[in-house]
Amino acid sequence: MLTKIFSILLGLFMITSQAKAENKTSPDKPTVIILLGAPGSGKGTQSLELSKILGLPHISTGDLFRENIKLDTDLGKQAKGYLEKGALVPDELVFDILFDRISKSDCAKGYILDGFPRTSAQAHELEDTLRNKANFIIFNLKVSDAEIIRRLSGRLICKKCGRIYQKDTNPPKVAGVCDFCGGELYQRSDDKPEVVKERLRVYYEQTKPLEDFYKQQGMLIDIDAEGAPDTVEKSLEAKVKDLAPQLIKK
Ligand code: ADP
Ligand code: ZN
Repeated sequence: MLTKIFSILLGLFMITSQAKAENKTSPDKPTVIILLGAPGSGKGTQSLELSKILGLPHISTGDLFRENIKLDTDLGKQAKGYLEKGALVPDELVFDILFDRISKSDCAKGYILDGFPRTSAQAHELEDTLRNKANFIIFNLKVSDAEIIRRLSGRLICKKCGRIYQKDTNPPKVAGVCDFCGGELYQRSDDKPEVVKERLRVYYEQTKPLEDFYKQQGMLIDIDAEGAPDTVEKSLEAKVKDLAPQLIKK
C-alpha cells in the first residue's frame, strides 16, 4: 500500500517537474511574448523582427503614446509631459491604451509586448487579466550601461515605418533616409543625454525589479543582447522555436 502511494506521488512529481522544466506553451492559447530590458537594450528592434517572423503584432506602449501625442488626442495630451521628462506615464493611462490595443482581433493568436510591463503594478495587472488565458514567454535583454548610452545617443528612427538605425554601427545608406521605405529619419526627443539619464534612473528603480518577479516564477529567459541585432535575433528565434513551435511558420 505504502509503496503504491509512494509511486503515485513520485509519478505526479515527475509530471509536474517535467512540465515546469520545459515550460512549453499550449497551442490553443494566445502567446504573449514580453521583452524586458533597459531603454536601448534592443526591445524595439527585436520586436519588429520577431513580429515579421512570427506574424504577431508588435505592441509598443511608447509608440502608442507617441502616436497619440502626434495626433493630439486626449490621451496624448495627458501623456506628453511624462515622455518629455523621461518619467513613467501613470499606470491607469497605460492600462487604458494597452488593454484597448490587445482586445483587437489581430491579437487573437498572440502579440509581442515592448515596453510593458514597466512597473510591478503593471506586471500584476497583466497577470490578473490573463491568468490561465495565455502563454507567456518572457525575455530579458541584457546589455551593459556603456553600450546602452552609446546606442541611445546614436539612435535614429524612421518617421514612416519605425525602423531603427544607429549612427555608427548601423547607418542608413543615404544619411537621413530610411533604406526600406524612403521615410525621413529623426532622433527621438527623449534620446537627448539629460533625458536618457532620467530614463535609465527610472528603469533601475521601477522596471529592473520585475526581473526578480518573473525569475521567482521560473519564467525569465535571459538573453545576451550586447552583440549585433542579428545574433540577438537568432537566440530569440531559437527559444521561441523551442517553447512555442506552433508560432514558427514552416
Ligand atoms: P524606451 O524603452 O527606449 O525608453 P519607449 O518607447 O518604450 O522607450 O518609452 C518611451 C516613454 O513612454 C517612456 O519613457 C515613458 O514615458 C512612456 N512609457 C512607455 N511605456 C510605458 C509603460 N508601460 N508605463 C509607463 N510609461 C511608459
Ligand atoms: Zn522606413
